[in-house]
Amino acid sequence: ANLSNRPTPELAASELEALDRRHVLHPHQRSQRSERRVIVRGQGSTVWDANGRKLLDALGGGIWVAQVGHGRAELAEAAAEQAGQLAQFTGFFEYGNDKSIRLAERLAALAPANINRTYFTCGGSEGVDTAIKLARLFHHRRGEPDRNWIIARHFGYHGATYGSGTATGIPDMQVAVGPNLPNVEKVMPPYPYHMEMYGGQNPTDFLINELSQTIERLGARNIAAMIGEPVLGGGGVIPPPDDYWPRVRKLLREHGILLIADEVITAFGRTGTWFDSEPRGMSPDIITVAKGITSGYAPLGAVMVDDEIVETVTGGEHSFFHGYTYSGHPLACAVALANLDLLEKEGLLERSLAIGARFRTGLAPAAEIPVVGDIRVVGATVGIELVVNRETREGVSMDLALAVADDLYETHNVITRNYGPTLVLSPPLVFTDQETDRTSAAIVEVLRRVDLAAGRIAPR
Ligand code: PMP
Repeated sequence: ANLSNRPTPELAASELEALDRRHVLHPHQRSQRSERRVIVRGQGSTVWDANGRKLLDALGGGIWVAQVGHGRAELAEAAAEQAGQLAQFTGFFEYGNDKSIRLAERLAALAPANINRTYFTCGGSEGVDTAIKLARLFHHRRGEPDRNWIIARHFGYHGATYGSGTATGIPDMQVAVGPNLPNVEKVMPPYPYHMEMYGGQNPTDFLINELSQTIERLGARNIAAMIGEPVLGGGGVIPPPDDYWPRVRKLLREHGILLIADEVITAFGRTGTWFDSEPRGMSPDIITVAKGITSGYAPLGAVMVDDEIVETVTGGEHSFFHGYTYSGHPLACAVALANLDLLEKEGLLERSLAIGARFRTGLAPAAEIPVVGDIRVVGATVGIELVVNRETREGVSMDLALAVADDLYETHNVITRNYGPTLVLSPPLVFTDQETDRTSAAIVEVLRRVDLAAGRIAPR
């Protein structure tokens, strides 16, 4: 099926926009903005809005997905074929379906040797909640029911449910909706660009010291697990120093605290590997994934669990009383299997690194622009931290960062996003050299027009 030739929707753009204003409550609704951007189809790294306007998707479906690109017939066919075979059939109790079993087998083959079982969810937030429950339950079954504190990190993003949302280190999401999940403590993450956070100390030394003190204060025997992203994603694409995760891992192990690697962004090629926790020395007990597992074509998350945890939680007469209607949905799992085939066959893990290397070169001229504080490239993911002052490293206002993303959209038809003062790119892994260069050139052009004194962007 040539999906790119499908007609645009029956309703005119203006009608869709009016209906959207009337009937849709948006995730992260920005009520001060009246404009609407209604995307109706995509092919490769290009998407079209309801007006037929062509845009370059440098953000992977706007939300770090679309690894294999939009409009892939292979995934459409896998979904259609599976939909014709079976509606959902649950994995509750002793039931199951063939596609979720095959996917679990495939994940076990890709995962570190100690991880052989997968619990399926619909996305990352549900996965993080599941991981938190598993960690607490593990200690409970071992006779340490007081081990229920979760250590998470400022700037971390783990989701929007009460569990994952409380573990998230973005305070706006927790205001006025409490009580949030109790017994969650936050520590600082590594943020090498902001050394002032570490009082002049080596950041890893500082952070290990802070973590030790936190463990001491809460009492090691009260702590179930720590959760962290290998590389902070929503916090602004912030990779840690090489010694950070190995030292955290060692300290946690000494105190019997589990480590949950939240790989919802990083897994499945985004940073050039299947799982980024491995090269970073996390050796996690639990890995949560989502997004790239289906390239976003179907909602699916997975919680990949260490053998000893599985045995402890479900061994003997014990059961794990936790399930979602759509756990192991066969359509999502069929799409995931076809997606993993594509990632492998097309060498997209390696391609991810090539895209990153090309961004490094293409964005090099941006390093000279006064508003650019730091450029961070991790695989096919980029964070450009914008500052009002390069000495103090104080970030630009949300309005100015948003204006940069808006200008890229309006002037260059390139879709990006700001996370606080950081402009973020997370393109499909099929991004061509030409698309990568075009994105870099557009960013350099817009950033050169930022007028810091006036706090706005000069017209072109
Ligand atoms: N963890 C991380 C690291 C994420 O980036 C996200 C989503 N951006 C989530 C969890 C939550 O996933 P979902 O939105 O699928 O619930």
